[in-house]
Amino acid sequence: MTDKIRDMVIIGGGPAGLTAGIYASRALLDVVLLEKGAYGGQMVTTAHIENYPGFPEGIGGFELADLMQKQAEVFGLPIQYRSVESVVREENSLVVNTGDGPVRTRTVIIATGATPNKLGVPGEERLTGRGVSYCATCDGALYRDRVVAVIGGGDSAVEEALFLTRFASRVHIVHRRDQLRAVPLSAQRALANEKITMEWNTVLREVKGDSDVQELLLEDVKSGQTRLLKADGVFIYVGITPQVGFVSHLVEMDAGGYVITDTGMRTSVQGVYAAGDVRSGSIRQVSSAVGDGATAAYNAYKYLEEKDSI
Ligand code: NAP
Repeated sequence: MTDKIRDMVIIGGGPAGLTAGIYASRALLDVVLLEKGAYGGQMVTTAHIENYPGFPEGIGGFELADLMQKQAEVFGLPIQYRSVESVVREENSLVVNTGDGPVRTRTVIIATGATPNKLGVPGEERLTGRGVSYCATCDGALYRDRVVAVIGGGDSAVEEALFLTRFASRVHIVHRRDQLRAVPLSAQRALANEKITMEWNTVLREVKGDSDVQELLLEDVKSGQTRLLKADGVFIYVGITPQVGFVSHLVEMDAGGYVITDTGMRTSVQGVYAAGDVRSGSIRQVSSAVGDGATAAYNAYKYLEEKDSI
């Protein structure tokens, strides 16, 4: 292991991590951001973001991610594409173990966000990439003049269903209740959209098709009756799960598996902070993730300054 001890390792390159990176590099800390896939987090799978201030016309999620990364680059934030396996505490440092070896550091910011849940129904896994998708932004254009279904009634399901109406001839929103969870403005837009059909009190039981999605087996949860819906694609938005496996032994979490922090983004372990969707109590917005990232980096900087002055 290299003996170099960095000031900060940021884990995750979504809006929280990139913002923490901008703050840390502007503070001239010896910082590195580790990202296992592509930077941007859930922003890149969001077609259009219209509640992030500064963009009155809204902005594409991918575009916003790119702008944030470019801004971090301006201040020299190094981004390394490495998967983190664990974070452990040693006497004088924290050790971030990655697939490519360990990184020693004085502070860590956990900004790993959350990933989409699977439904776990027959056919879902087999036909993923062949009609089953978790990303309308990535795959929506493949469904021009075709029929798709969106599963879920939250903000993601409703916003992505609206996005899909640009391409598809019909979008069925399949929701297990008779009321949407999404914020009223999006819900109203969906209910008023002529291309959207609401399938209330309905759940997906099976995705059918040989090599591609052809039909969905739906069940009415009130009557128990099942029926087949012809569809070329199904987009699943049934919530998200925080990415915390690599710190599950280290920091305190709430019952849902989200990392507990104080208002300064400090976790139960000194020098370890959490920001964004991974944090307990987060409202899971790009704007709140940005605020969390700034707070975490600021407080980590203060912590390092205090330690150095002792
Ligand atoms: P979510 O808010 O947890 O909604 C998940 C939806 O899936 C709910 O409607 C839920 O039904 C349904 N569901 C869950 N498990 C199911 C199952 N096994 N079978 C059938 N349906 C199931 O998740 P999300 O929409 O991905 O949003 C995640 C977070 O990001 C939220 O806090 C959301 O507000 C935020 N977000 C915000 C924006 C925005 O502000 N523009 C955009 C996207 C996401 P019930 O309603 O019956 O529970």
